[in-house]
Amino acid sequence: RIEVGPAEHGIDPELLDERAVRVVKTLTEGGFEAYIVGGAVRDLLLGRRPKDFDVATNATPEQVKGLFRRAFIIGRRFRIVHVVYGRGREHEVIEVSTFRALLANESAEQVAGNEKTSKDELAGKSHVVDASGRVLRDNVWGPQIEDAARRDFTVNAMYYEPVKQMVVDYHGGLADAKKRVLRMIGDPETRYREDPVRIVRAVRFAAKLGFELEPKTRAPVKACAQLLANVPISRLFDEMIKLLQTGHSLASLEELRKQGLARGVFPILDAVLDEQGNLHAGARGQFVRRAFEDTDRRVAEGRSVAPSFMLACMLWHEVQSRWQRLREAGESPIPALQQAIDLVFDARIGDISGRGKLAADMREIWMMQPRFERRSGNGPYSLVDQPRYRAGFDFLLLRAEVGEVEMGLVDWWEDFALGSDEERRALIDEAR
Ligand code: ATP
Ligand code: MG
Repeated sequence: RIEVGPAEHGIDPELLDERAVRVVKTLTEGGFEAYIVGGAVRDLLLGRRPKDFDVATNATPEQVKGLFRRAFIIGRRFRIVHVVYGRGREHEVIEVSTFRALLANESAEQVAGNEKTSKDELAGKSHVVDASGRVLRDNVWGPQIEDAARRDFTVNAMYYEPVKQMVVDYHGGLADAKKRVLRMIGDPETRYREDPVRIVRAVRFAAKLGFELEPKTRAPVKACAQLLANVPISRLFDEMIKLLQTGHSLASLEELRKQGLARGVFPILDAVLDEQGNLHAGARGQFVRRAFEDTDRRVAEGRSVAPSFMLACMLWHEVQSRWQRLREAGESPIPALQQAIDLVFDARIGDISGRGKLAADMREIWMMQPRFERRSGNGPYSLVDQPRYRAGFDFLLLRAEVGEVEMGLVDWWEDFALGSDEERRALIDEAR
C-alpha cells in the first residue's frame, strides 16, 4: 500500500466534482473512511475530467443511507447506494459502494505485497459461482485492501481522498498510468474466467485511454474469448454500447479485430463486419463508418450521443433486406417494416423488454424513413412535429451521403422544417 500526495500525483483539484467531495466529507465526518474510487481516479491522474464519480467507503449501505437526505439502496446482485443531488438538469447521482471482501475462491495472490489475507480469514465468506467460475452474487463487506484486489485493472483500483489530497494505491496503478499500461490485477486468466466481460473492458480501456495491454494481460484474451458465450446477452450489449461510445469506436473495432473478437461474439457487430472483421465494402460499410465517425466526433466535441442512433445505423441494412423480402412475399409496406424490425431485434439484441426506450427510439427512426418519401397532404406536417424528427432526419442525411436517397430529398425536408406556412404549402405543391 502506498500513499502519495499532490506533489507526486499532480491531480488538479479543479477537475473534482463538488458533490462527490461533499459525499466523501459527510461520510468522513460520520466517522467512516471514504474515497473517490475507480475510473474517476484514473481519469483525474490522466488530467481528464471524469464523467461520473464513484465513492467507496467502509460504511454499510444502511449506514450510508442514514447520512444523506436523498439516498437509495439499489441493486440485488451488487448493492450500492445512490446519493442524489439537484433536480432536472441539475440532477446528479453519486454512487457509493461499500468495500467488498475478496472471497474464498478468489486467489489470495491478488492481494498486494505481504499483507496477504489468509485463506482462513476468508473462510466463511461465500459467494455463488456458475460452472465456468463466473461470480453471480457479491455483497460481502471487507477491508479496503480486499476491495482493491477485486477490481479489474491496476489503474482502476486506486482511491483518492480529496480533503487530504492523497492517492492510495495497492497495485502499482500510479506507475502503470504513467507508463500508459493496462495491467490486470492478479492472474489474468483466472480473472477473465471469473468475469469474461473483463475481456471487453480490456479492449475498451485500451482504445479509450490509448493504453497498451501489458503482455500477460493480453496473452489469455484469445483463449478466453469463448467464455463470453456464457455471459447474459444484455450485459454484453451494455458493455458493447459503452465500447462504441467511448469516442474511439473505430479504434475499438480495430482492437477487437486484433484480439480475434470482432466476429462471433457480439451479434450487433456480426451485422456490420465481414468474415475478416472489417466493415463491409461499398455503401453498406460506408454508412456504418460514417455513423461511427459521427459519434466519435460528437464525443470529442463534448456533445451527447444516443446509442439508439448508432444502433439504428448498424442494423439498418439488415432491416432493409428483411423488409424487402417481406414485401416481395406480398406484405404491404408499413406492416412489412414493423415485422422486419421485430425480426432484427430478435436476432441481434435478444430480449428487448428491458430496453423499452432504446428499442422504441430505434424503431421510430426506421419507421420515419418511408414517411420521408411521401411529401403530400398532411404527412410532412405531422412528421416534422414528431419529437424524434431530428434523429430521423439525421438518419436520412446519412443515407443521402452514401447515395441511398437523393440529396434533393434532404434539402426539401430541411426547407420544409424551417419554412413558414406559405413556404411549406409551396414546397408541397412543388413536390407533386
Ligand atoms: P468509465 O469511465 O468507462 O465508466 P470505469 O472504470 O469507471 O470506466 P465502471 O464500469 O464505471 O468503469 O466501473 C467502475 C469501477 O468498478 C472500475 O474502475 C473497476 O474498479 C470496478 N469494476 C467494474 N467492472 C468490473 C469488473 N467486471 N471486474 C472488476 N472490477 C470492475
Ligand atoms: Mg464509471
